[in-house]
Amino acid sequence: MRVKGLIFSVSGARGIVGQGIDAVVLTELAAHFGSWLGEGTVVVGRDSRISGEMARGAVTAGLLGAGRDVVDLGIVPTPTVGLAVRKLGAAGGIQISASHNPAEWNALKLMSSRGIFLTAQEGANLKARIDAGRPEFVGAFDVGSRTRRQDFPSVHVDEILASPLVDAEAVRERGLRCVVDCVAGAGGPTARILLERLGVKVSWLHDGPTGRFPRNPEPLPENLTELGETVREKKADIGFALDPDADRVAVVDETGRPIGEEVTLAVVVDFVLPQVGGDVVVNVSTTMAIEAVAERHGAKVRRTPVGEVNVTEEMLRCGARIGGEGNGGIIVPAVNPGRDGLLGIALWLTALAKTGEKVSGLAGRIPATVMRKEKIELKGLTDDQVDQILEDLPAGFPEARVDRTDGLKLLTDEGWVHVRRSNTEPIVRLLAEAGTETAVDDLVRRARDLVGRSAAAGR
Ligand code: MG
Repeated sequence: MRVKGLIFSVSGARGIVGQGIDAVVLTELAAHFGSWLGEGTVVVGRDSRISGEMARGAVTAGLLGAGRDVVDLGIVPTPTVGLAVRKLGAAGGIQISASHNPAEWNALKLMSSRGIFLTAQEGANLKARIDAGRPEFVGAFDVGSRTRRQDFPSVHVDEILASPLVDAEAVRERGLRCVVDCVAGAGGPTARILLERLGVKVSWLHDGPTGRFPRNPEPLPENLTELGETVREKKADIGFALDPDADRVAVVDETGRPIGEEVTLAVVVDFVLPQVGGDVVVNVSTTMAIEAVAERHGAKVRRTPVGEVNVTEEMLRCGARIGGEGNGGIIVPAVNPGRDGLLGIALWLTALAKTGEKVSGLAGRIPATVMRKEKIELKGLTDDQVDQILEDLPAGFPEARVDRTDGLKLLTDEGWVHVRRSNTEPIVRLLAEAGTETAVDDLVRRARDLVGRSAAAGR
């Protein structure tokens, strides 16, 4: 299936609605997925996007047409779909969500019977089937049926509260006050159940799942102005921002200052690790502060390629009990082997309650670092030429340790630079981190100069 504007990746397919993603494309993708899964039920959920109802109809048609039964959860967080797949012993799951992307996007996030995203191998197998042609549709008597279930948000909350890492009583006793910004995404209704049961006083921002995002939906510091102001105004202890499918969470401190998604994860690791032990698993581009936190508790850090399923797989393989992604993706496999923003909220509140600290106090325990994210345009160069430029880069950093877990990462005493070629645009993505602004800018400048020079030579 070749559709202009449709981006197919390991964990699913995404595009702009009407320009790559439409009812026909979604039906065919879902039918391919359904027949690839084979026997069993498929769980379907969606975020609150305006195109969500169209997409739900199309995806359901494809699955039923391929002979699968569908359990429809309605508007739910992505981690709720994974949980339902496992609880129901389903063949797989589809969450219809373009996550933090703007409202005009939509996407399918595909899960196997393990309730986690497809692995690279599974994704490649499915892609081969999709590329081979039209999906197989069954005859009238084999068409599947659809059941609706509305109880999974509360099942999800039960699961979170059952974790020994979450202490609802301590949270209730501390009498915390918080502000939650759900960005009109899927997280609002589930977050309401969770916080009610934790006995927290909440001021809600955009908790209705209307899909009309009031701001850029990615929970980056620059998008959390309203949340910060509301925390100050309400004199709240903490502010939480969920992304539209509620698998990521970012925290704002009691003064209204966003502590950043990287520190949001690092504080949870700092709180959970001494209770559970073992190694910490994060991806290559997550903050180096995780190493400092792990060392404090005598633990090691394992790093994986970028992509949630890579972190999940490594956690399951080595039995790690805490990990995630620096974009505010917190993973505790005992509750959920994928990123879970609701779990993140419960762990943060427990940390505040049990330590008696303020958010700024907990965040202050994490070594301060500075990260930079940049793009280098390389118009007119072939993929091979770009690969060659990246191949030559380590020579310009003779003091650095080279890590090729994912793209190229150069680690120096000051920090690191991570460069990856984009698969969709003629650009190189560059991420760098160091202890100070000067040090990180120096790393970025050196990498930029080297890439620029070899690009000029290559032309
Ligand atoms: Mg998301």
